[in-house]
Amino acid sequence: MSDTRQPPSASDLFAAHPRSFEHNRYVYPVVSRRAGGVSIGVNLNLDKVCNFDCIYCQVNRSEPAEKEFVELGRLAAELDAAIELVTSGRIYQQPKFSQTPPPLRRLNDIALSGDGEPTTYRNFDEVIGLCAEVLRRHELDDVKLVLITNASMFHRDRVRRGLAMLDAANGEIWAKLDAGTEAYYNVVARTAIPFWRILENLCDAARARPIVIQSLFMRINGEPPPLTEQEAYCGRLAEIVADGGQIKLVQIHTIARPPAETWVAALADAEVDALADLVRRRTGLPVTPFHSR
Ligand code: SF4
Repeated sequence: MSDTRQPPSASDLFAAHPRSFEHNRYVYPVVSRRAGGVSIGVNLNLDKVCNFDCIYCQVNRSEPAEKEFVELGRLAAELDAAIELVTSGRIYQQPKFSQTPPPLRRLNDIALSGDGEPTTYRNFDEVIGLCAEVLRRHELDDVKLVLITNASMFHRDRVRRGLAMLDAANGEIWAKLDAGTEAYYNVVARTAIPFWRILENLCDAARARPIVIQSLFMRINGEPPPLTEQEAYCGRLAEIVADGGQIKLVQIHTIARPPAETWVAALADAEVDALADLVRRRTGLPVTPFHSR
């Protein structure tokens, strides 16, 4: 029988970010809007638990995290194979990637993200070292190692060591900040980790190296973030800078994939743009808006 499935369109490619690929356990390539190319994701959170329970997350979580060690040998082998698949171009022969537009047929980054918070792993620093070593071995100096994080664990020694190794590998921290007030943070993140801890960690990290702030705003029960919240958010960014932190970019996202809760929804493009403008005016920082699909 012939295969009658249609290859995905370019917009489907952006929307579909499954964390599984072939028989891999940890590594999955995706065509990424934010990357403007192919991003190889490294998912350390196979148990699908996280120390946040964001209302917009794609995965529902309610249990405390069970932390296991990552199998480094297997992770290295999967990363090697995925890099070879993308850089050789063989990946675009697969139906899932065959519609990738030519300008996006490039490996942009290795991103530690996935189904939970990557810094909660006990061998996080070893994972960073391994990813950096694989990139070195493939002589991919222009491919970034990106840590996508909620910044909740930066104060832990192992994570500090991992962040220093990320710096040495010319990597980048993309850290989440989705609120300006504690009350709104509690609504969005649903975690026991206090807001002050996140702000302090962001500030410390940004003092040590320039970081990217990744923020997501949405409609909650039909309501966009109140203007007071938007102003408070700008104030938090300004505080980080005033405290000596370096923010190289602020990304303003909205919901692009089905969220955990049915009562949250994407902002309109104009609302995302207006918030991005506000942040630029209030902080003077570079801002990139990302619309919903
Ligand atoms: S921090 Fe990230 S992975 Fe964790 S619940 Fe929030 S969006 Fe999901």
